[in-house]
Amino acid sequence: MIPLIIDTGRGRKYMYVSLSNIYKNYGDFQASKDVSLSIEKGNLVALLGPSGSGKTTILRMIAGLETPDRGDICINGTRVNDVAPADRGIGFLFQSYALFRYMTVFDNIAFGLTVKKVAKEEIRRRVTELIELIGLSGLEDRYPSQLSGGQRQRVAFARALAPNPEVLLLDEPFAAIDAKVKEELRMWLRNTIQQIGITTIFVTHDQEEALEMADQIVVTNKGRIEQVGTPQEIYCNPETPFVAKFLGKSSVVEGYDVLKGFQKIDNVKEALIRPEYISIHPQGSLHRYRSVVELGHIEHILFKGNRLEVTVRIGELVLVANHTIDGHAFKVGDAVDVLISRICIYDETDTYLVENEGMNTSSLFYI
Ligand code: ATP
Repeated sequence: MIPLIIDTGRGRKYMYVSLSNIYKNYGDFQASKDVSLSIEKGNLVALLGPSGSGKTTILRMIAGLETPDRGDICINGTRVNDVAPADRGIGFLFQSYALFRYMTVFDNIAFGLTVKKVAKEEIRRRVTELIELIGLSGLEDRYPSQLSGGQRQRVAFARALAPNPEVLLLDEPFAAIDAKVKEELRMWLRNTIQQIGITTIFVTHDQEEALEMADQIVVTNKGRIEQVGTPQEIYCNPETPFVAKFLGKSSVVEGYDVLKGFQKIDNVKEALIRPEYISIHPQGSLHRYRSVVELGHIEHILFKGNRLEVTVRIGELVLVANHTIDGHAFKVGDAVDVLISRICIYDETDTYLVENEGMNTSSLFYI
């Protein structure tokens, strides 16, 4: 088969992994429903969705660990539905590092090559190169129990890379790692993957992880793909109500038309308001856009390290806003000026960003 070249709207791209109209059932349960997806060579792609939305099923079908009931999976232009997992040129990394406890770092990384009966000298060369890549030179004789969680995950990563796969699949690679190490490991993994240029697909239910790391995010819900796009596209221009609700921390409000500067739109009952669309100011201090400033009262303040999350009540509506830690020091009970710059409204299928009419001339964007 010919490799797929697709015009993505940002130029013609070489699609390395593609799934066309994939269906997968477990008994009566539909785990994948008409999944179609094309992944560009060298991209780092996140499959993001809630638990049970079918992310791992997609990953396992690409790996060949599950067989689709219908549809085609192609890697590098070749249909691989009937190709054994070991012959697909894929490296797989699971969330639990699954290192061999009684093997050293060196032997763990060498494992796939030893099984393939690669020459000893070549194994030594490749493993040494990989140990350098993961920054663990000098630790090759340690056992997994003598490593930190982050180091173990790096070893597992090197082991998956050892046979030189064309595609790397990672299933919740940071799930078993504590917060601080996770952050470092994410950046390290992103940089290393970019450096090697390997096409990588990882599963996560952590939106921060997907937004921070991925070139492309695929949002899954109930076995279907809701949206595919760059982190910015997915976050700023959600195409479906599900994506709008799933990403970011939004307040869901009914009766959004009581807010100044927003009108009721036919058949649209609810709106989402992201914390970054709301600014709060000391009462009476906001002179610009005075006609659309709301009076609110602070109900709750949460310290989030680099920002404050402030819950503010405007009449019957309760909204969550972001506030900088070096801004005005509010306290619970304070009366405040609240400015809402935009809201996201949605009907059954579409979402719309509506700008506050008192702040802007053009108010409705179809997205
Ligand atoms: P999680 O984040 O919890 O791992 P996920 O989005 O990766 O979820 P999948 O693991 O793909 O979801 O599972 C999708 C659905 O298919 C789930 O409801 C799951 O219970 C079901 N499922 C997965 N594997 C099997 C199986 N082997 N037999 C029966 N049902 C399965």
